[in-house]
Amino acid sequence: MSYLKKGTKCLICKNENIKNPAVIFLPAYRLPLCKEHFINWLENRVKKTIEEFKMFGKYDKILVAVSGGKDSLSLWYILNKLGYNADGLHINLGIEKYSNDSNSLVLKFSEKIKRKVFIIEVEKVFDRIENISKVSKRPLCSICGTIKRYYINKYAKEFGYNVVATAHNLDDEVAFLFGNTLEWNLNYLSRQYPVLEGGNGFVKKVKPYCKITEKESALYAFFNKIEYIKYECPFSINSTSIKYKKFFSQIEEEFPGAKIRFYNNFIKKIYNKLKDESSKEILRTCIKCGEPTINEICTICVLKEKYFCKNLK
Ligand code: SF4
Ligand code: ZN
Ligand code: ZN
Repeated sequence: MSYLKKGTKCLICKNENIKNPAVIFLPAYRLPLCKEHFINWLENRVKKTIEEFKMFGKYDKILVAVSGGKDSLSLWYILNKLGYNADGLHINLGIEKYSNDSNSLVLKFSEKIKRKVFIIEVEKVFDRIENISKVSKRPLCSICGTIKRYYINKYAKEFGYNVVATAHNLDDEVAFLFGNTLEWNLNYLSRQYPVLEGGNGFVKKVKPYCKITEKESALYAFFNKIEYIKYECPFSINSTSIKYKKFFSQIEEEFPGAKIRFYNNFIKKIYNKLKDESSKEILRTCIKCGEPTINEICTICVLKEKYFCKNLK
């Protein structure tokens, strides 16, 4: 993006014999674009990703997991703009100011785009994630991830949605791939695909934003005046994934297009060879809550048992 030279014209406008100045240069695609064509380009890319991976159609009921950040709000906005039937689900994590601010922005946005949003307060259905983490002695972000996955799946089913869309962007996907490649963690890599089919108690999960970078997403939100939370969760400081993202962005600076090539080539060349790894896990139903699990009792029910026993002592 920093490569935009003064006086560069939008390539698409140029092809149409209009000479609008470019406001952005996408080095990965060697594409200078004006505001209007950048918005079209990004929306079209999301649409193509949805079609390429057969994520959903116009008759599906989609629940978008909205955190209040630029990616999830923009995705929600785009899906509705493209004519899909998409409502929102916000998991309020109970992290003081961060959760209050995110919650208000999500509510405000749902009014703006006139779509329904469900708010689940973790504190009401379980407890504040900081407390759960302390009692269970598990890292906070790991608890947070487990809780979000569990409640998003559970409520999507309860509220009658057949697809859950999350706004993982290209930087998230590349950081995840990179981290798991460093460890050769084949089990995690085998689940790294833009679509996870539903069944056995799971709702279908899709990532329509998987080919959009964080920078492209931020610019799209800015151009469309999408009001999102501008600061990170206070617990994200020193997170490994942020370090991987920074590292990969340096690679991208040196080799434009490295992120999208790394991701696309994994999907094309590696994923098919690995996917059988994940199907080896036998799923069953949690005897306590009925949600899918690989053990007799799911992680959330085990956590709840431990948590409430310790708190009663
Ligand atoms: Fe959850 Fe915050 Fe950790 Fe992200 S950084 S996983 S939102 S606790
Ligand atoms: Zn243009
Ligand atoms: Zn359970």
